This record gives sequence, structure tokens and C-alpha cells, in this order.
Amino acid sequence: MPTSGARTVGCLVPAAGLGLRLGAGRPKALVELAGEPLLVHAVRALRACPRVGPVVVAAPARDVEDVADLLASYDVVVVPGGASRQDSVGLALAALPPGADLVLVHDAARCLVPAQVIDAVIDALLAGADAVVPVLPLADTVKHVQGPRVLGTIDRSSLRAVQTPQGFRRDVLLRAHAAAVVGATDDAGLVEALGGPVVTVPGHDEAFKVTRPLDVRLAEALLAHRDAARPDRPDPPAATGGRHVR
Ligand code: C5P
Repeated sequence: MPTSGARTVGCLVPAAGLGLRLGAGRPKALVELAGEPLLVHAVRALRACPRVGPVVVAAPARDVEDVADLLASYDVVVVPGGASRQDSVGLALAALPPGADLVLVHDAARCLVPAQVIDAVIDALLAGADAVVPVLPLADTVKHVQGPRVLGTIDRSSLRAVQTPQGFRRDVLLRAHAAAVVGATDDAGLVEALGGPVVTVPGHDEAFKVTRPLDVRLAEALLAHRDAARPDRPDPPAATGGRHVR
């Protein structure tokens, strides 16, 4: 089992969402990007980081067998997810092997997360953080509204958009989930609700969450770009026929 120093880093992958905003008519985790399910891309990104040890995926309950088949070569445990993301993370956490004392939680929907983000989160945990989130500054102006009416403009300079993987000491994450705070939209929010410290590391544009149809096109364009930039990519075949002019 890979370890980071004397520590073992486990990873939980909530992937049980229905993906209604994507409108693909099937769970988001199974929507294909460049010919492979989104979840396969997500697990491959995690497995590209040798410091990530045991991985537990929470899949849509009725797709557990299919997902286990899809991921057979990636050494992951697959469990049925729950009705909410928080439930799915809790179920995956319960199935994490006991040796992992540091835990990442990574949304399957952020399937193209670069390794440097995963490494930054693990580094912060190894440096002693209880809870870590990757963040990006906001590009858009943010307004507070009520119905169609603008109430005010929020100073965005201290606001950050939060990505995954988020990282936790296992005991901290267990306590946060046991408290079962209502309304938290991420795991760090559960820790914050208990008054626990959460620190940030730099996120990455390529760790965006595939949520809407445009995100699928963006993800496919990024995959094509990465493929073209691969150093081991074979040269394109030499042009043989040239232009055909009659
Ligand atoms: O819905 P949202 O995009 O915020 O979901 C974030 C992640 O949580 C996705 O990877 C999704 O599959 C997962 N999820 C889950 N169980 C649910 C709802 C969402 O694992 N019941």
C-alpha cells in the first residue's frame, strides 16, 4: 500500500450523483468523455499520484456492479452511495481500510484534476493541517440578490471558489461526519461547523467540476489538448497525397 512517509493517504470518491444538471439521462459518473466514463478519468487522475493509497468509490446504488467492473484494473473498493453527497462520503468513509490516517475526498465530477493539486493537499496534511481545501480566486463579480433585485455587490477579494480533493486527518473527518451538520455543501464545511481549522492551497482551473453540458465539451477539449502535448505521442503520419487538384 503506498504511503507518504509513515502516513497512509486514503481517498473517498463520491460518484453517486444523478447528474440532473447535465441532462444526459444517466448518472454523471457514467457519462463518457472522449470515449471513457467520467469516473474512469477521475480514478485515473488519483492513481497517477503514487502517494494515494486505498480508494473507495461511492457509486449510484443500482450501478455498483457495473462501476466495479469498469474500475477493475484500478484497485478500488466500490460501495453504494446515498441520497446526498454527504451521505455518499459517509458511506465511503465507513468502508475505508483502517490503515489510512489521512483522507482525501474527491468529487468524481472533478475528473481532470492535475496531480499538482493532489500533491499540494497531501503536502499540507503532512505539514500538520487538520483540513485542507484547494481554492481559486473568483473571476466574476458577485452580487447579493433577492428575486430579480440586486441588494448589493460583495467584495470578492477575500472570496474563494473551493475545489476537491479536500484533505483531512481521518479522526477530524470522522468527527465532522458524525456531527451530521445539515446544509454543508462540502466536507470542509462540516469541519468549519465544529470550529475546526481549515487551510487553503492553490487550486487549478483544470480541476473544474463537470456539471453542465458545456463542461463536457470543455473536458473533451482539455483531454485532446493533453493528448496532443504528450511527449510520447507518435508523430502524425506524413502527408502522402497532398492536395488533389484536377
Ligand atoms: O451534485 P454535485 O455536482 O455537487 O456533486 C458533487 C459530487 O458528489 C459528484 O461527484 C456526485 O457524483 C457526488 N454525489 C454523490 N452522491 C449524491 C450526490 C452527489 O456521491 N447523492
